[in-house]
Amino acid sequence: MNLTLGIIKPDAVSKGLTGKILDRILSEGFQIRAMKLVHLTKKQAEGFYAVHKDKGFFEELTNFMSSAPCVVMVLEKENAVEEWRKLMGATNPAEAAEGTLRKQFGSSIGENAVHGSDSKENAEIEIAYFFNKLELV
Ligand code: ADP
Ligand code: MG
Repeated sequence: MNLTLGIIKPDAVSKGLTGKILDRILSEGFQIRAMKLVHLTKKQAEGFYAVHKDKGFFEELTNFMSSAPCVVMVLEKENAVEEWRKLMGATNPAEAAEGTLRKQFGSSIGENAVHGSDSKENAEIEIAYFFNKLELV
């Protein structure tokens, strides 16, 4: 079994979609090992997305991610990283496959409802950004 970091982003939390998304996560066989509601500061959002600091959308992304609370969680499943990205769908909701969370709940390439780590290595880094070992059940 392995772990990935998932985030229900501010757009989805603000629209009251947290319960629907958690329901889907559990019904797809993920275990939630840790979870909390956080309102990121701009600096914390910049730190989390530091890999994108040279992209044109960095300012928009970090403003959005610090605009309202989000739900951060550690998800466990076999092939957690790949399985969670598959359930999320493509970055742009308009290009995401039917049945994916971004297709169903995302509204634009920026406000796309959920985040997921893109590799095992980054999952470890991202989990440690939000949770210490004692918080992992
Ligand atoms: P993913 O979240 O699918 O791994 P990226 O790592 O490429 O996608 O981008 C991180 C986040 O930045 C995206 O989920 C989205 O919120 C935002 N983003 C990506 N591309 C754009 C863009 N062209 N315009 C605005 N926001 C974007
Ligand atoms: Mg990414």
